[in-house]
Amino acid sequence: MIFTVAIDGPAAAGKGTISKAVAAHFGFAHLDTGLLYRAVGAKVLAGADAIQAARDLTAADLAGDLRAANVAQAASKVAVIPEVRAALLAFQQDFAARDGGAVLDGRDIGTVICPDADVKLFITASAEIRAERRFLEFSAKDDTTTRAKVLADVIARDTRDSERALAPLKPADNALTIDTSELSIADAIQAAIGHIAPSLG
Ligand code: C5P
Repeated sequence: MIFTVAIDGPAAAGKGTISKAVAAHFGFAHLDTGLLYRAVGAKVLAGADAIQAARDLTAADLAGDLRAANVAQAASKVAVIPEVRAALLAFQQDFAARDGGAVLDGRDIGTVICPDADVKLFITASAEIRAERRFLEFSAKDDTTTRAKVLADVIARDTRDSERALAPLKPADNALTIDTSELSIADAIQAAIGHIAPSLG
């Protein structure tokens, strides 16, 4: 059975948590497509050429710790390069077409990678709430980070992701938007599962 769930949204809106829970609930495979861009960004920080890094990417490159703030910024910079996006396209589309169902989360899954996805969700939340979530995550590891810095980073990345010419961050026409600003994690997951279940028949 091929069944694709496309989940898009800005940083720290909760799409990773929701995607994992949805995949576990329905027994689907999950791909966090941000990891592909983060892996390319990390290679560029280490001195590589972005396009070559994207073309040479292997599964092993996705295994390290790619959560750092500088890697996120580098990811959104390489993500504006058309050849980088092109190099990562086939892997994502093959993943979506695997037997047994797939959940892909990112910025352009419902609009560009899988325009015919069976279900599309757009997960969002206010910039302040998303920054607060990221701040709590980062400040556990790095006590020099500040709320203001994390908010500025989130806004810079949102702006770059939304305003780029190719595959900008935006809801697909037929996506259900879930705003998690005022939702518990459990309620957000329930809303996603409740929207997907009827399409499975
Ligand atoms: O989702 P995550 O925060 O890990 O993504 C890192 C960056 O990768 C995003 O800010 C965005 O620029 C880029 N990205 C993208 N398209 C995707 C997934 C991520 O452009 N499908």
